[in-house]
Amino acid sequence: MSESASSSTAEGSPTSEKHCEDLSPSKKIKLETTSASREVETKLEARLGGILCCAVCLDLPHSSVFQCSNGHLMCAGCFTHLLADARIRDETATCPNCRVEISRSLATRNLAVEKAVSELPADCQFCGQKYPRNSLERHETDFCEERVVWCQYHVLGCGWWGPQHEKSSHENQCQQPSHTGAQILPHLRRQNEANNEQKSIFKSIFSVLSLEKITFNDLQLKPYRTDEFIHKLFYETSRFTALNYQWVIKAHLNDNQRDPHLTNKRYLTYQVDDGFDNEVENLFIMFLWFINKLFYFSILFLMFLLVILLLFILLSF
Ligand SMILES: [Zn+2]
Ligand SMILES: [Zn+2]
Ligand SMILES: [Zn+2]
Ligand SMILES: [Zn+2]
Repeated sequence: MSESASSSTAEGSPTSEKHCEDLSPSKKIKLETTSASREVETKLEARLGGILCCAVCLDLPHSSVFQCSNGHLMCAGCFTHLLADARIRDETATCPNCRVEISRSLATRNLAVEKAVSELPADCQFCGQKYPRNSLERHETDFCEERVVWCQYHVLGCGWWGPQHEKSSHENQCQQPSHTGAQILPHLRRQNEANNEQKSIFKSIFSVLSLEKITFNDLQLKPYRTDEFIHKLFYETSRFTALNYQWVIKAHLNDNQRDPHLTNKRYLTYQVDDGFDNEVENLFIMFLWFINKLFYFSILFLMFLLVILLLFILLSF
């Protein structure tokens, strides 16, 4: 196919050892010097990798790079994680290296590091050859001959998948296009069902969004602690009005796990309370408390009366 031809021209010549096997002896010396310079290059790459890596996860950043006011580097993922952790513990976020405060406004991007990292080579996950990080994604999705692809008759039910360079030879002998309509009908039906399922999700979203009674509110969940012996964290928005009611959204992290910042897996459970019901509920709880206390006091009062009666009887004799 023309795709493979264009790949070799567009991508240049990556550091492939295969092409160098049958070279004339006169070119051997040149080859040795290039392999030596390559060794120096890889050492330099390793050193640069060590310098430009994220101070938290020690990986080379894939996207934005942030730095604290003292210049310590953090990848976007770790930076967001640090801010979220601090939010969970209701503390200010700090740089893990120098403990200086970090936030969206205090930390800055480092474009020079981002560009330097994008020039460092990385291995293609399919063919294992090295490419600059900024062109690796394009190589893996469009050009790599080892990338995994489906047969073009997959829509007709062919289940073949394999490396790109085997695709055309499979398609030349693929039996799927010669199947009759009756044979491929069940597969088409299954596909249709899957499509309809997706369509119904979109339809329900559109019908909710086009409801007449709909309000939008910008809400911010703020962390609070319960006043129990072991504090539990929960998050609450301020009261907001929607559809003539007052509402509050409460959220718990990881089902009230004690130290949610120690795990990577985090999920919020939400609960919507309307303010009116809450007040009625509170009144009812106060009423129950009063009844409870009344019962307790009335028993005390009866015992007190009994004691006085007994004293009175004893004194009268
Ligand atoms: Zn990181
Ligand atoms: Zn720092
Ligand atoms: Zn590749
Ligand atoms: Zn096929």
